[in-house]
Amino acid sequence: MQDKFHTNTNILGILGHPIKHSYSPFMHNLAAELLNLDYIYLPFDVPQDSLKDALKGIIALGITGFNVTLPFKEGIISYLHSVSEEAAIIGSVNTVVNELGKLTGYNTDTTGIYETLAPYKDDFSGLEVSIIGAGGAARALVYTLIRHFKPSRINIINRTEQKAESLKIYFTDKMKYEYIHTYELFPHEIIPVLNSSKLIINATSVGMLPDTDDSPINTPKIFMKNQIVFDTVYNPADTRFLQLARGEGAITLNGIKMLVHQGARAFELWTGQQMPIEAIYDAVRKHLEP
Ligand code: NAP
Repeated sequence: MQDKFHTNTNILGILGHPIKHSYSPFMHNLAAELLNLDYIYLPFDVPQDSLKDALKGIIALGITGFNVTLPFKEGIISYLHSVSEEAAIIGSVNTVVNELGKLTGYNTDTTGIYETLAPYKDDFSGLEVSIIGAGGAARALVYTLIRHFKPSRINIINRTEQKAESLKIYFTDKMKYEYIHTYELFPHEIIPVLNSSKLIINATSVGMLPDTDDSPINTPKIFMKNQIVFDTVYNPADTRFLQLARGEGAITLNGIKMLVHQGARAFELWTGQQMPIEAIYDAVRKHLEP
């Protein structure tokens, strides 16, 4: 019997709104070209209330797979046929595979986070970590940290403390991890919290283009020598947050490695092929690093 739906168009894409600043089309199209694969990756700007219709279209057209970004990463779950265990725990999907009309959701941000932090594992595993932000990126960070790096304590610091508190309640229950503490983003209160953290992560959108002079924290003496400071923002690559940290002797990591590795894992899920990571990493860095 012939399958009702086909998924051999070799069309990939990203659904979001707005979508024009995404680097994913550049990365995936370049990877396909370098590997001589017949895939094309397109940006789809989907109006906020049209997600369900867009998914019907994807199934009808046989689009092989796609990424999902704001504002759909959480809401899409209820429309999918299944989600990976990881994406179900995190409560957020950024990659979907279409197999003969059945949509499966994954979260590959965790791969990007793991690959960025793993080289520093010995420096911060088992120690205190602070995350600034409580949105989708923060959820993937909390999951990956608990799963792979077993911190002694995770501080979630957010402008809206209630959202940080919701994350704490959620992950305490889902992952049986009882060492999450929450704070409002008030510079004076959080300085001691940040000073005692071995790893500090910006998971807010503050500092992103065009507001490149902004930083979630501008106060001096928040960073310390040999602390590891990771900014999930990748455009610009060198944010004000990272510049401040480097000025105080911290080791700084930008969001490009996370971007490339989350893409590489998605590419593998869709095509079964390894993305040529070094070449893509170099190409993205050429665009984003001064
Ligand atoms: P999100 O779900 O919309 O969350 C945004 C977060 O930023 C919230 O915690 C929000 O605080 C905070 N925020 C926004 N404006 C702020 C301001 N003016 N002052 C203080 N806090 C503010 O977004 P997301 O998906 O988590 O993305 C967050 C960051 O992660 C973005 O910069 C994105 O580029 C980055 N990211 C990077 C990668 C990568 O591959 N490198 C992948 C995914 C995401 P409230 O709760 O108070 O609103």
